[in-house]
Parts: sequence; structure tokens; C-alpha cells
Amino acid sequence: MAERTEWVERAEWVADGVAMLEIWFGQTAIMACYLIEGASRRAIVDTGTTSSPSQGLVPALARLGRRIEDIDLVVNTHGHIDHAWGNGEFKRLAPHATTSLHAADTFLRHPDALARFWHRRRVAAGDVGPEAAAAHAQQLADLAHADPHFPEPDANHAGGDAVDLGGGQVIEIIHTPGHTPGSCSFYVPRAKALLSGDSLTGSAGSGRFPLLSDVVAYRSTVLAVQRLDVEFVGPAHRYPFRPPLGAVETPARHGDLARRFLADTLTTALDIEAGAVEAWQSDRHAPRAAMVTEAVRRTGERIGVDLSGNEHARAAAGLWLEAIGGAPSGA
Ligand SMILES: [Zn+2]
Repeated sequence: MAERTEWVERAEWVADGVAMLEIWFGQTAIMACYLIEGASRRAIVDTGTTSSPSQGLVPALARLGRRIEDIDLVVNTHGHIDHAWGNGEFKRLAPHATTSLHAADTFLRHPDALARFWHRRRVAAGDVGPEAAAAHAQQLADLAHADPHFPEPDANHAGGDAVDLGGGQVIEIIHTPGHTPGSCSFYVPRAKALLSGDSLTGSAGSGRFPLLSDVVAYRSTVLAVQRLDVEFVGPAHRYPFRPPLGAVETPARHGDLARRFLADTLTTALDIEAGAVEAWQSDRHAPRAAMVTEAVRRTGERIGVDLSGNEHARAAAGLWLEAIGGAPSGA
């Protein structure tokens, strides 16, 4: 395969004063940042990974006739590698821009946090036993003194906050945890646009499944956003719809597709929960790993996709079984 040299997939206006900047990072991974413009200020939603500001955002903004140094603020949907890790590089290129992130995600600056996250999911799925704990503790100790992944944010935003960009363009911050504890979505009422980062992860597709750290919070999040009046929903990735629509080749969801995306995300969240509850009810004494396998099978059947062996599905099932206190712990 030829080496990638073009990092911008799309840079286009998607709603009133809102543009989508879909950029590649690495050879095969892609994500979308968003530009929100008001009469007096411009904001960027997420900065991608460390190389994204220079490699992806500068040329993407240029396609729209904008310069990175004209951006006033960065609002991060959450603290993951492809969303906030570009903050340091962004501030070098746009020195007067300020960054903000929900306080509950600032722990993700620390390199041991991700290791902790992945380990917790494998334990929940019943796929590792206590013997893995020692190796994990050593891994955390090795990471504890590593440099932070991104600089301390200049400010913390919280649910209920609003950012005024001038001329009636306002960003309403909605705390939408579940993917991470500090995940937020940004609602732009003038454009009826919801920019959701990884907070709403659609349905399951081949090799894809919602990546969740807290299944109970996620269910509340996807219920809460159903009330919003949306004409555009812009997640950070091309999250799939329920079958038969399935995968789509853009993160942009307009009109009926925007509303369908919210509905599909909710139905899928409820199917993940139902699969776990049904598995527990069918054999309350099954070992954790077997109960998780059964939960994943039932969820896949409800959605209409084969989820066998999907580690994200196993983790979500395991987290639900923990939440209902329904599975013996350990492998
Ligand atoms: Zn994420």
C-alpha cells in the first residue's frame, strides 16, 4: 500500500457556521474535528493526535480559507489520543488559543490512565485472572513518571456551560459520560447541530462496537440527548447505523439521518444492557467469562450482527454484569 501523504479527507461546511474537518492520523485511522464560527470568535472541537494540528488541521482550515492562528479556543470532547493529544502542538501553532476539557477527563493526561482503563475492561469481561494484576501493577509503575500526553487545559468546562462566539452563535456544553467520565457533547442551537465526539457511538458493525468505560452512564447519556432538536449530528468517527443501513462513509449526519443516528444509538445501548441481563437470568451461576460470551451472543442477535470475539462487546457486557451485581468475579 502506498504511504499516505494527504491527511485531509474532507473540509466542508455542514451547518450554519459549522464546518467538519475529517483528517487522517497514521496510515489507516481517521477522525473529524469541527470548526464553529461566530461573529467575534472561532472555536475548534478537538485537535486530533500529536501530529494532527500541523499535518491535518492547517491544510483542512486552508481549504476553507481559514488559518489556525485565527482560532480562539479549543474545546475538547474528551481526553483520548485522537481528540486532546494535539492540544500541545495546536497551542504552538495558535499561541493565543485557549483549551478547555471537562475536569473528569484530565486524568487521561497521565500515561498510566489508559493502561488502567484497558486492564479494567479485560477484568470485567472475565478474560484475565488475578495473575495479570502483578504484571499490570509493574506496567503502571513504569508509566507513572512518563511525560503527560497533553498539557494541562487552560480551563475546565462542565455540563450547563455556554460559550458565546458572538452574533448569536453559542455552544452549549452537555456532559455526556459513558465513553469516558468527562466526555462532553457540544450543541450549537442556531445551527441545530450536535457535535458529539465519541459520546454517541452508534450501533455495532463488522469489527466495530461502542467503546465504553461506564455502561450505566452511557445509557443515561443516550437517553438524555434524544430531547435535542437536531438537524445535524457530527460524531468524531464514522459510527455505524443499525442494520440494514450499517456503515456510512462519512461522520456527517443530516436531517432524518441525524435523528436516526440518535435513535439507533439508544436502541443499541438498550440491547447491550438487555443482552447482559438475559444472560444473567438464563444461568445465574455461570462463570464470568461464559456469562459474558452469552451476553455478547444475545446482544449481537438483537442488533443483527455477529459480535463473537469482539473485545469491546465483551467489555461492555462485563461492565453491565458488574453493574447489576450479577456475575461471579475472576476468570
Ligand atoms: Zn475516545
